[in-house]
Amino acid sequence: MTGPFKLSPLPYAEDALAPTISADTIRYHYKKHHAAYVKTLNELVQGTHYASMKLEEVVRATAGKDDDKEKKIFNNAGQRWNHDFYWRSLSPNSGTPTGKLKAAIEEFGGARKLIEALAEAGKTQFGSGWAWLVSKNGQLSVEKTPNAEDPMSKGVNPLLAVDIWEHAYYLDYQNERPKYLEAVLKKILNWDFAAENLSREEEPARAAAE
Ligand code: MN
Repeated sequence: MTGPFKLSPLPYAEDALAPTISADTIRYHYKKHHAAYVKTLNELVQGTHYASMKLEEVVRATAGKDDDKEKKIFNNAGQRWNHDFYWRSLSPNSGTPTGKLKAAIEEFGGARKLIEALAEAGKTQFGSGWAWLVSKNGQLSVEKTPNAEDPMSKGVNPLLAVDIWEHAYYLDYQNERPKYLEAVLKKILNWDFAAENLSREEEPARAAAE
C-alpha cells in the first residue's frame, strides 16, 4: 500500500477478544473494512494539500464540508481515525476504572448507569455509526454519531468508541446489536485507554505540543 496514511497494527492478536468478538470478525473488520478506508483515503488525497497533513488535521479540516471530494476524504479519514480509536478502546484485559476516571464515573452516576447510557446510545443510533464516551472539562457524557462522524473534530475529547456498523457484529450476533453492545461494554472495554485519554485533557501544554 502506498500513500502517506498507513494501516496501524492491531494492538492485540485477532483472536484476543474472542468470544466477545470472534477472530473472524476482527480479521474481516481490520483487514477488509479498516484497510479499505486507508487505501481509499490514500487515493483521494493524492496530489492534494491533505497528503502532507496529519490524519487528525485531515479529519478536522474536512468535517462538515459540502464539497463531494472533501466529503469522501472526510468519510475515509474519519473511519481511519475512528477504527484506530476503536481497536484501542477494546482490550482482552478490560481492567477497572481507578483514580480520576473512577471519580468521574461516580460523578456521572456510577459504572452501571454509564454502561446503560452507552448501550442506549448504540441501540438508538439509526443505521451505521458510533457510540462514544466523551469528556468535557473532566465531566463524562455519552454521544452517538452517524457514519464516519466523531466528537474529536467538534473539539470534544473522546475516551472510548464502540463501532456500531453492522460489520462490527453481524458475523457474531447477526441482527442483535444490543447483544453485541452488552457483551462489549461489560467485558472488553479498555479502561486504561479511557483513563489515558481523560488525563490528556488535563495536560493542555502537552496536548498543544502534539
Ligand atoms: Mn467498522
